[in-house]
Formats: sequence, structure tokens, C-alpha cells
Amino acid sequence: MERVMMQDIQFVAGVGEARAKLLGKELGIRTVGDLLNHFPFRYIDRTRIYPIAEITEAAGLAYVQLRARIAGIAYAGEGRKKRFTAYAQDETGRVELVWFQGIKWIEKRIEVGREYLIFGRPSFYRGELQLAHPEIETMEQALSRKAESGMQGIYPSTEKISSSLGTKGFYRIIQNAWALVSRGRIADPLPESMRQAYGLIGLHEAYYNVHFPQSAELLRQAQYRLKFDELLGVQLGVQSRRTERLEKQNGFLFPKVGDAFNTFYNEKLPFPLTGAQKRVIKEIRQDTVTGYQMNRLLQGDVGSGKTLVALISMLLAVDNGFQACLMAPTEILARQHFATITKMLADIPVRVAILTGSSKAKERREALAGIASGEVDILIGTHALIEDKVQFQNLGFVVIDEQHRFGVEQRARLWTKNRRPPHILVMTATPIPRTLAMTLYGDLDVSVIDELPPGRRPIQTFHYTDSARLRLWGFLKKQIALGRQVYIVYPLIKESEAMDYKDLTDGYEAVSRDFPLPQYVTEICHGKMKPADKEASMARFKSGEAHILVATSVIEVGVDVPNATVMVIESAERFGLSQLHQLRGRVGRGGEQSYCILMSGEKLSKESRARLEAMCETTDGFRLAELDLKLRGAGDLNGTMQSGMAFDLKIANPTRDVQVLTLTREAAMQVLERDPHLTQAENRGLATLMERYSAREKIDFSRIS
Ligand code: ADP
Ligand code: MG
Repeated sequence: MERVMMQDIQFVAGVGEARAKLLGKELGIRTVGDLLNHFPFRYIDRTRIYPIAEITEAAGLAYVQLRARIAGIAYAGEGRKKRFTAYAQDETGRVELVWFQGIKWIEKRIEVGREYLIFGRPSFYRGELQLAHPEIETMEQALSRKAESGMQGIYPSTEKISSSLGTKGFYRIIQNAWALVSRGRIADPLPESMRQAYGLIGLHEAYYNVHFPQSAELLRQAQYRLKFDELLGVQLGVQSRRTERLEKQNGFLFPKVGDAFNTFYNEKLPFPLTGAQKRVIKEIRQDTVTGYQMNRLLQGDVGSGKTLVALISMLLAVDNGFQACLMAPTEILARQHFATITKMLADIPVRVAILTGSSKAKERREALAGIASGEVDILIGTHALIEDKVQFQNLGFVVIDEQHRFGVEQRARLWTKNRRPPHILVMTATPIPRTLAMTLYGDLDVSVIDELPPGRRPIQTFHYTDSARLRLWGFLKKQIALGRQVYIVYPLIKESEAMDYKDLTDGYEAVSRDFPLPQYVTEICHGKMKPADKEASMARFKSGEAHILVATSVIEVGVDVPNATVMVIESAERFGLSQLHQLRGRVGRGGEQSYCILMSGEKLSKESRARLEAMCETTDGFRLAELDLKLRGAGDLNGTMQSGMAFDLKIANPTRDVQVLTLTREAAMQVLERDPHLTQAENRGLATLMERYSAREKIDFSRIS
């Protein structure tokens, strides 16, 4: 059976060489096993035929199947705008079937007066029902098709694959793959006792029913079983690595509170620490005197003062003869950390260096030599820090800022920079519940800064449309006259990069025109600029020389200019809630009243409106995160979480499947208690399961936060 699962998909009927290549490239599907682990994201009931009158906008149907006679056809448009419409009707109403592509192919297959079985996604144009690019079959074809189970899976796909295979084609190759597999039985990794305790169906049945549900109930059980396996695999890994880490007692010891720490703490601290900052520092101190290797996640809302906690912890390492490093997700942020930290450490004999992808030869040489010889105590930088060339003399403490920006592999490589793994502090402004954090980031302890520095006035947030543009400009001018500074941010979303870029440059031109020199200085900053230009532009804004910074969301993370009091977000409806919150966190960092202005078009979807309203209502990041999950509903994991996730989950969604997550935690704990290394015969399958979710990438997950 294992052999079948490993078989190359090109030999599955209906695939062949070209499609195999495409499936591998687009979806990472290479073997029969991969194909069976590609699960439908929704199911439709193919036994149901809707009368056209029942397909209304209010019914909110995602896919429909109907039976209708073609009453007429029409062509419209020219060249690329050409379209082909077929008008179909049943006893209850009419529907337009529209094609924009493949017209030659479809016109040959559509015959006026004939009855077809039609399947597609309904949409409404001026109240009229339309199906764009539906699947059609003559009734004879439909009736001759062999009976399939009523529910048919719809598989996640990409544009290229859809045009090569289509919904039906994809379904067919899954059927063919299953035909190969079902000659035997898929081995079940779970011991019988566990299956019984948690009411789980067999793995073979689970795969069968997830692809070809025999009933709604069996589908539910199949999904439950497959999610259980995934999350159990993850939990077994997380828990056994935690035990191993705590047993090892190989963490570096920082017993001493020395000169660097004391001088900074007693003489240089720019302000008294908040209670929450003190508490976290204490937690870190405790971790670093126990002999365990620390793996700690620090959650704190934007502006809560995580940088200072990081710095103080790094000084602790330095006092004990170790080096420390701080890795930031962007060049701008790394440079900024370097500037603030160097300034705060002036007159303290701690040497700080910077290394980023765009470091000049000299800067790079000095940083590399300094950390190799031990002359440099603290190294600040971007992911350039993880390159092999970066050799520390004695790295003892690693801080990773805004960690969701880093891939797992990047993080893992920092672990190998010393003979024993250094202590790790991972900082994030994206709040996540504890159990979830443990799944997402593995074996972690969690600290929280739940208090903002005193004297902060809550940022006032408003939502305007373009009709308020003039008033907004007037307001910005007033703020600038008071000596304050302003950010104006444009979205930058991959799919339409060119267009976004135009929005940004157009915006910059408009602002430069409406805020003319010499009275106003406007800078621009975006990802396509050379690092040196970006830096110069940021520097002019930071120094106060520039009044306005027009930027993309490159400034989303961490940038700190306390004198900036207004954040204008253009096309705010295109940003996610957590991103809006991050952006807003760029203001309100000094003592002055700050403002966040959300600009959007007049027309908004329900969800966008809810997001913007939430932003106007609260500044509490934890509340917004909760709301965000709710608004996404059954939708996907937040992209940022996904990218931070240590495991490649195909069906379970830890934010949604909290119940399964809790059960698997418990199950893993019980098994490991009796059989810590999973060596007993009945647990052999569990060991394989654990490995599968630990070895997705060729890295040692015990080293991962
Ligand atoms: P974040 O947690 O978002 O990384 P920062 O570390 O950038 O926040 O801190 C935000 C701002 O608050 C900075 O300007 C910093 O100097 C200031 N700050 C940090 N701690 C305190 C404190 N205890 N009291 C007053 N201001 C503080
Ligand atoms: Mg920060």
C-alpha cells in the first residue's frame, strides 16, 4: 500500500506527463499520496436540481445545478471583449449562460431547443441570473453517467490547473487514484484503543469519505478523523520536544547582573518601565538561570515597548559573556533598531553592529569580523543574520522581532549558530491564544505585555470617503503647522502590483502638488526603491525635515517616529484588520493626541464596512484580533499566522478546530506519559505520524520557536 501512495501521479489515468508537471508545480502534488491529501474545500450536492425560480440572490447558493432548454444564443463584443450568451429556461424562469473564452468550443456544443444539465456558480447582473462558464451536458450524457454519490468535492485549484482540468476533470483523476489505492487498505497509524476512546473511524474509510462522501454524517466523521491525525502528529512532536528540552538542561546560564545591565537600568533608562515590562524581564531572568534553554513568545500590542524588553534582556546576556542578536523583518526596521539602541547605549561599553542584505562591503566586513572575534556584543539585522557566513564567537541570546514575518526555516537556522542552542525571545504584535500559539509556533512559553506606557492618549480613528478630501488636507495642514508629521499609506497587494504602484506614485504627485515646497516637504518610500534611497527618505522623515511620508505598507511594522501624529490610510478597505491596526500603531507614540484616518470608496462590502467600523470603535489589539477571526468566520487562517506556522496542515485549521486541538493535546499527553519515545509496538504508527509532521522541512524542529 505504501508503494501505491508513493507512486508518481503521471501514471494515474487521466494525468499524464504534462499534467503531472503542472500539478507538481502549482499545487505540490507529485505522488498518489499527495493527491489523496489534497482535500475538497467544499462539497456540492449533485443529486439536486434547482428550479430556476429558486436560485435567487437571497438564497446565497454557491453552486447550482439546473435542467433547462436553450431558447436562443447571442454574440456580443469584438476581439478580446467578445462574449457568447446562451439563454436557457425551465418551467419556472430564465437564465443567461455566458462565455468569454473558449467560444469556438462551446458554440459547437450548444444547440438551440435542446435540454441540458447545467452546473455552475450563480451570479446576478442587474437582478438577472447568470452563470459564467458553466459546465454543461446534454441530458442523454447526464443520464448515461454512472451513478456517483450525491456529494461532490470541489478541490482547491489554480487558474492554470482549472484550464487544464476543470472541476470535473480533477474529480475524475481523484477517482482514478482512489481506484489504485482501494486495491489494498491504507494502514492505520492509530492504536485501536485510541480510535475507540475518541470515536474515530478508520483511516481508509476516512480518505474514501472525504473524497466520495457516502453521507453527510460519514463526511463529518472522515474530516474529524483526518484533522485528528494532523493535529495529533503536531502535538506529539511539540510535547516530546518540550520534554526533551527541559530534560536536557543544556541552556546557557546568565547568573550575573553586571555593569551593562546596571548602568543602563539605573542611569540610562529613558523612562520608568511599565509594570508589564518589568514582569516580562523577570520571567526572562528566571528562564536564564534555570539551565533550561528558553523558548519564549512575547506578545504585546503595537507601541507596548517590546524593544526595550529585548534590549535589557540582551544586556543580561552580554553581562554574562555572551553575544546577542536581534533580527528584524525589514531593512528599515533593522536600521531603526540599530539607531535607537546605539543611542540608548551611548557611553556604555557595549558594542553594537548592524548587518543587512544591503550592508556595504565595509559595514559587512566589520560586522562579520567583529562578531567572529567576539568584539561585537550585539548584532542587529535582517535575515542576513542567518547566512552561513555569519559566525558568532559565542551567541547566547536571540531576539526575533515581529516574528510572523519570518519563515520557519529562517528562524531555525539561527539556532545552529552556537554549539548549544541560544535562548530565544520571539516578539509579536499579533495576539494569539495560548494553545494556538503552541500549535503554530511549537514548544513555546508565552509572555504578554498587556499595558501601554503611561500618558498615551488613545488614537482617534475616523472613516471618510473621497468627498472629505479637502477637509482632510486642511486638517493635515493644521497638524503640520503645529509641528507634527503625517503618514499617508497606500495598499500594495501582490496581484495588482503595477496598479498599486501607480496609485502610490499618483498619490505622491497629488500630495506634492497640494502641499507645495518650500513650506511642505513630502517624501516617498516603497519596496521598489533602492535600500539606500529608502533609508535616506526615512531618515529625512525621522529627523523631522520632511513633514509627510507617502508610503506603502513597508512601514507597517515597527517604525517609530514619535512626532508623527496622523496616519492616513488610503483604500483602507483593502487592508486586513490586523494590518490596519499595525499601521495605526505607527502614530500615538508620543504625548500628543494622534489620529488615524481611514479613506475608502463609497461602496463597501459588508465585511469591509465591519472592519472599518471596528477600527473606529476600539484600539485594543486583542479585541480586534478576536473580531478578525469572527469576521473571517469559517474562512482561512490569517495569512500572517499561516506563514509563521511550523507545520504544513492540509485539513485541520487550528483557529477553527480548537476542540480537536484540545483533544489531541490530551491524547498526546496520555500516550507519551506511558511511552515517552513511542517505542511500543502499538505506537509505532504514532511515531511515524509524529515524524511526518516534524520532518516536512529538512530542519530540526526542536530548535524552532
Ligand atoms: P513595540 O512594542 O510596538 O515594538 P516600541 O518598543 O517600538 O513598541 O515602543 C513604542 C514607543 O514607546 C517607543 O517610542 C518607546 O521609546 C516608548 N516606550 C517604551 N517603553 C516605554 C515606557 N515604559 N514608558 C514610556 N515610553 C515607552
Ligand atoms: Mg516593535
